[in-house]
Amino acid sequence: MEGMIPGPLYVIFLVIIGVALLIFAYGIFRGSDEARRREPKPRERGKPGSPGVCPICGTVLGPGEQIKSAVFPGAGERLLHVFGCPHCHPFAERGIERNCPVCKKKVPAEAYLIARLFERPHAKRHVHILGCVNCRLPKRK
Ligand SMILES: [Zn+2]
Ligand SMILES: [Zn+2]
Repeated sequence: MEGMIPGPLYVIFLVIIGVALLIFAYGIFRGSDEARRREPKPRERGKPGSPGVCPICGTVLGPGEQIKSAVFPGAGERLLHVFGCPHCHPFAERGIERNCPVCKKKVPAEAYLIARLFERPHAKRHVHILGCVNCRLPKRK
């Protein structure tokens, strides 16, 4: 029977964890170092409003990349809040600017665009960008 004293297996397990942590830490260090040295690869830019292009930063989305948005329930046309794509939300990558396609002003990271979503049977969904929170919502205060 094994007693309460940690056996050799337990010690080996701890050593493995230590090594794994070291590798992990090294990976983080190397990653950040490389990122600092390497200039960010400019992403392909498209026309905001075209399909597959982020309406806020204009980045052409790659496969599997989606624009984050929230749809509000309603009949016919629905309200949509567009937060951005993985390149500009929740943090804009270097060299990426978030601009409103309507007023052309900067859209802060916590702000979003307001759009209308048209869903028609037998037709493609259509998103119409109305503007950002600055130009669309009445100013408070
Ligand atoms: Zn974007
Ligand atoms: Zn705007």
